[in-house]
Amino acid sequence: MSKRSLDTELVYLGTRPCPQTGAVCPPIYQSSTFAQEAPGVYREFDYTRTDNPTRSVLQGMLAAAENAKHALAFASGMGAIDCIFGLLEAGDHVVTGDDIYGGTYRYLTDIAKTRGVTFEFIKIDDEATLRGALSRTKTRMVWFESPTNPLLNLVDIEMVVRVAKEFGCWTAIDNTFMSSYFQKPLDFGVDFVMHSMTKYLNGHSDVIMGAVMTNRTDCYERLKFVQNAVGATCSPFDCFLAIRGMKTLGVRMRAHAENALKVAQWLEGHEKIERVLYPGLVSSPHHELAKKQMSGFGGMVSFYLKADLEGTKRFLTGTELFTLAVSLGGVESLIEQPATMTHFEMPKEVREAVGIGDNLVRASIGIEDADDLIADLDQALAKI
Ligand SMILES: *Cc1c(COP(=O)(O)O)cnc(C)c1O
Repeated sequence: MSKRSLDTELVYLGTRPCPQTGAVCPPIYQSSTFAQEAPGVYREFDYTRTDNPTRSVLQGMLAAAENAKHALAFASGMGAIDCIFGLLEAGDHVVTGDDIYGGTYRYLTDIAKTRGVTFEFIKIDDEATLRGALSRTKTRMVWFESPTNPLLNLVDIEMVVRVAKEFGCWTAIDNTFMSSYFQKPLDFGVDFVMHSMTKYLNGHSDVIMGAVMTNRTDCYERLKFVQNAVGATCSPFDCFLAIRGMKTLGVRMRAHAENALKVAQWLEGHEKIERVLYPGLVSSPHHELAKKQMSGFGGMVSFYLKADLEGTKRFLTGTELFTLAVSLGGVESLIEQPATMTHFEMPKEVREAVGIGDNLVRASIGIEDADDLIADLDQALAKI
């Protein structure tokens, strides 16, 4: 049989009838421990921190979604990041982008640092800068995001992998914004993919979870060891919710992307908008690269208002369908102001230098009707 499409595979893997009862949906194995036949002799599972049957179904779906040999599920995206950093030792150096997720920035500067891991933030999308950084210091891992948050800058995945391989270091990417559906970094030779499953993979804003995927069987054994030894593992009930969410990944992602493009195009033509950031727009400087490495443009749209701090606040508190909240990737549309919300901890000078001004708004476009979303933005823009 030819390779099935991901839409088919995710429904298939998420509904294998239980051999004992025929239940079509994977049971929630809410059990911490499993009976042993003799001391040390057990069937597939012995203790839920190590592995659990419900988690195992989810991990199979995660691997299929990312074209990965191996996938591990975690209690949060940060737990997944910590597991990848668990491969490093004191003295190892990490090179990363200068506009990465705030939580990853905090992890590097407050956690990895105390464990003796060194790091530097560079303009990672520039080949000469990356090459310069890697030739100065012996680097163990390049950590990057594409698109970045909240500015939706793209990094050429193929370029980062090529340069990192030359210098013999690992590559790891936070693929949260595209979800496994629109971007498959392992296909470009990236060593480790990480997701905040909290966002698109689960897609319903009702769990905090994370994932790591890899094709490297050598490192997988160590990752699995770290996962069990550190213990940031997820509950069987959360796994059940994520299984249910992932069955509709394709349907949701296509709806997010279709709506996001409509909203972005509409915003571009509005008099109160200074600039729209969305890789699907032909006017985006990243449009060609987006078409090369993504199969869709995603559901995140950022834009600059022609407004000061107060005007921006009136807009953000004036929407009815868009909820003012951090996070992203759920079926419902969310809106936020990076300068005061998601990127508040970034020093003001750094924030403004990279382009995160008070008038920047980030929207997670949901799967509601696009015309309703546009009408909501229209009436809120009138309040500026
Ligand atoms: C939310 C997020 C994380 C952290 O994930 P949690 O599930 O909140 O721990 C990491 N990276 C990106 C890009 C995110 O959006």
